[in-house]
Amino acid sequence: MFLTHLECSACGRQHDWSRLQNLCAECQKPLFAIVDLAAGSRTLKRETLATREKSLWRYREVLPLPDGVEPISFGEGGTPLLRAKKFATDVDLWIKDESLNPTQSFKARGMSVAVSMAKYLGATKLAVPSAGNAGGALAAYAARAGLEAHIFMPRDTPRANIIECRELGAHVTLIDGLITDCGAEIARRKEKEGWFDMSTLKEPYRVEGKKILGYELAEQCDWQHRKSSRARDLRSELPDVILYPTGGGTGLIGMWKAFDEMEVLGWIGKKRPRMFAVQATGCAPIVRAFDAGEKTAVEFPDAHTIASGLRVPKAIGDFLILKILRQSNGGAISIDDEEMIRVGREVGSSEGLFVALEAAACFAALKSLRSTGKIHSGERVVIFNTGSGIKYLDCYESQ
Ligand SMILES: *Cc1c(COP(=O)(O)O)cnc(C)c1O
Ligand SMILES: [Zn+2]
Repeated sequence: MFLTHLECSACGRQHDWSRLQNLCAECQKPLFAIVDLAAGSRTLKRETLATREKSLWRYREVLPLPDGVEPISFGEGGTPLLRAKKFATDVDLWIKDESLNPTQSFKARGMSVAVSMAKYLGATKLAVPSAGNAGGALAAYAARAGLEAHIFMPRDTPRANIIECRELGAHVTLIDGLITDCGAEIARRKEKEGWFDMSTLKEPYRVEGKKILGYELAEQCDWQHRKSSRARDLRSELPDVILYPTGGGTGLIGMWKAFDEMEVLGWIGKKRPRMFAVQATGCAPIVRAFDAGEKTAVEFPDAHTIASGLRVPKAIGDFLILKILRQSNGGAISIDDEEMIRVGREVGSSEGLFVALEAAACFAALKSLRSTGKIHSGERVVIFNTGSGIKYLDCYESQ
C-alpha cells in the first residue's frame, strides 16, 4: 500500500491513516488520502492495466488498504463508456454507464473502498444518511463485510431505495426531514451507539473510490481514441467537458484529485476538462453560490426535487466543488424536475438507456449549455449515468 497519511483539504493538517478518522481535528473539513505516487508507479503501469481484474481495484496502488487485505468488493467500476448514438449530433457525446455497478449506482465505488477501510480499521457498525442510492450501497457492502449498517433516510426517499436497504439487512430509520436532518441525527447518536459515520466526505475513502472514475475516463479515452495512432506512449486526452450531477460532489472532487495524481504520474498533461455541476432547480446551492461568486454555499431553503441524489441542501465539500468549477473554467446549472422526466424519456428512446433522473438532468444541461454557447460544436462531452431509472418508479406512476 502506498497511502502515507491523510491531509486536510482546507488547512493542510496531517492526520494518521491507521486509525478511524472522520473530519479534520483542527477545522472540521474533509480529509484527503495522500498516496506516494512515485513508489506506486513502479508497479502501476498503463500498459498492463488491461491484464488486471475488471474493477476499480485494478488501480490498487493509488487506493488505500494494505497489501494482502482483501477488499470488500462485488466487482464495482470498470463500467462502459458508450458513444451516444442519436441524442446529440453536434457534439462528440459519451455516456459512462454507472448503472451497471453493484446496487445499480456509482455509490458502489465509494462504499467498496470506504467499507474495506472501515472494516480493516476496526469499525463494526456503520451509519449513513441517504436520500437515495448511498443507503443501498452501504447496506450491500456492510452485509458482505459482516458489519452492521444503520441507514437514516428522509421518509419520502424513493421506495426502491428503502426496500433495498431493508432487504439487505440494514437497520433503516425514516426521518421527517432532509438528508441534512438525517446526518444531524447520526451525529447526535453515533458516539453512544458506537457507529462510524460514513457520510459523504465525512470519512476519507468514499472519495477515493469515486476518484477512479477519473482514472477510468483517461484509460478509456486513450484506448478508444488512439487505437489507430502509432504512439501508445502518448498522454491520454481527457474529454473537453464533464457534466456531473452534483449532490455532495464526491465524484467531481474525486475526479479532480485523480487528474492531479495522473499529472504527477505523467499520464496526462495540464489540460483539464471543463467541469459543470448540474443540480435541480428545487435544490441548487452550488449553482447559487457559483453565480454569486461565493467561495462556499449557504444551505438551500425548502429543498425539493425528484432527483433524490441531488437533494443535498448543504454539502460539506462546497468550497472544493466551487474551486474546481472555477479552476476548470466550467460552471453550474440547474434543471427543473419536469424537464428531467421529459429529457430522460428522450434519452431512453434515442440511446436505449433508462437513466437515473440525476443523469437525465445532465442531458438537459447539455442542451441548455449548447444553446448558450458554453459548450461548442464538436467538443467531446462526457455524461455519467450515475444510476438506474428503475429505482425511481414512484416518479413515473403519475406520468
Ligand atoms: C448520489 C448520487 C448523485 C450525486 O453524487 P455526489 O457525488 O454525491 O454529488 C448523482 N446521481 C445519483 C444517481 C446518485 O445516487
Ligand atoms: Zn483542517
